[in-house]
Amino acid sequence: MLLTISTTHQPATDLGYLLVKHPDKVQTFNLAFGKAHVFYPEATDDLCTAALLLEINPVGLVRNGGAERFALDQYVNDRPYVASSFLSVAIAQVFATAMAGTNKDRAELAQTAIPLQMMITALPCRGGESVLRKLFEPLGYSLLIDRQPLDTRFPEWGESMYYTVHLSITARLMDALSHIYVLIPVLDDEKHYYVGSDEVNKLLRHGEGWLAAHPERDLIAARYLKHQHRLKREAIAQLADNDGVDEEAEAEKHDAEEQIVEHTLSLHEQRLGAVLAVLKASGASRVLDLGCGEGRLLSLLLKEKSFTQILGMDVSVRALETAVDRLHLDTMPPRLKERLKLIHGSLLYRDERLNGYDAAAVVEVIEHLDQPRLTAFEHIVFGFARPRTVIVTTPNAEYNVMWESLPAGKFRHRDHRFEWSREEFAKWANRVAAEHGYRVKFLPIGPENTVVGAPSQMGVFEMGSEVTS
Ligand code: SAH
Repeated sequence: MLLTISTTHQPATDLGYLLVKHPDKVQTFNLAFGKAHVFYPEATDDLCTAALLLEINPVGLVRNGGAERFALDQYVNDRPYVASSFLSVAIAQVFATAMAGTNKDRAELAQTAIPLQMMITALPCRGGESVLRKLFEPLGYSLLIDRQPLDTRFPEWGESMYYTVHLSITARLMDALSHIYVLIPVLDDEKHYYVGSDEVNKLLRHGEGWLAAHPERDLIAARYLKHQHRLKREAIAQLADNDGVDEEAEAEKHDAEEQIVEHTLSLHEQRLGAVLAVLKASGASRVLDLGCGEGRLLSLLLKEKSFTQILGMDVSVRALETAVDRLHLDTMPPRLKERLKLIHGSLLYRDERLNGYDAAAVVEVIEHLDQPRLTAFEHIVFGFARPRTVIVTTPNAEYNVMWESLPAGKFRHRDHRFEWSREEFAKWANRVAAEHGYRVKFLPIGPENTVVGAPSQMGVFEMGSEVTS
């Protein structure tokens, strides 16, 4: 899709200084999901137009998608071709200086309202033209809206949900960029990456100076934050606060903050919650946390009385020391303390201390092991220790394209030796289960995307044949 930005401010070629992109050059930027090209179709003193052309790599979006779970929407979807949150990310990365208004050259112009025209092609608008107008007109834009037919060769098929929009305004370039940065994904009502509480800060930062007073700020916050009500409430409360509004808003803000603390779950918390739920459902009372790290899962396990014996093991002494601190082991009441044991050991060597437990959690550990040593791990856990239930979680590599800040081809953590797609994980887990007399079922962890799945994946192994998956 294409975004063009034009000005008739004179000399119009100053637009090149504002965008920090030379009008005589074609420049290409590599982004996590494809390429952005910047070039100037026209550059005279009277009229200058900069174009940002986004070329999303559709194969990258389905990279590692297994044939096993073929779904047509992996291959046939509008994402590579429409103006969406990908375009917003590209704007923020390619025009970062212009958005911040921190230009060294033409510093004064960056702070001056100039006549601007922006054109966005293939903009999906949930709610159609009226929403488009409700979002832009209060900001002072005049709009020219062109709805695209579904297929120009078959006019009888009617209109699509995609629009080409011309927006005109006299404003600072940094403000206009902030408007479209926020409003494009709002119109699309979709985001390609996980939306957590840092999105609230992003919305407030880019909405500074205009969002608080916008008549549609509720709609904007709800859609921008992907309808996560607690995040939306936090944003609205803070916006209202900026407005200098009343005590009720203040109370609501505190309430929202509390809710955030209580309920906004990080991916890791969701992961641990999922593991805990499966452990509880398994009926286990003696539980292993293998590769327990700093003891996050251990502290949750301790809160559940049904877990009478809990053993945490890790190869890292440092991690274990942190766990001792975090769990306040020194001052722990004896009743709790006698249920918990922390041991130093490796999952690659046979260890009698792991015998006799009902269940084992191995949370985000296997990807830290060198792949050739996985066989040893399999023998130790599934062959020797042999708890009835084993829960293994690991990142879903397919989801990596969704992390806004993760460069393509990189792992999520420096120490990861591999990251698997859902198919690769399933292949490994099915083999291990078959070799050791377990059955395994798979569960997603975190918000699921139709194309790339959820950010993390969990395999639940149950020993024997009485289990149904
Ligand atoms: N399960 C924890 C920690 C995950 S990080 C959590 O979810 O928070 C991975 C952990 O695996 C690290 O603490 C690391 O020290 C541990 N680990 C890596 N190789 C190991 C091995 N061979 N044996 C035991 N633990 C290991």
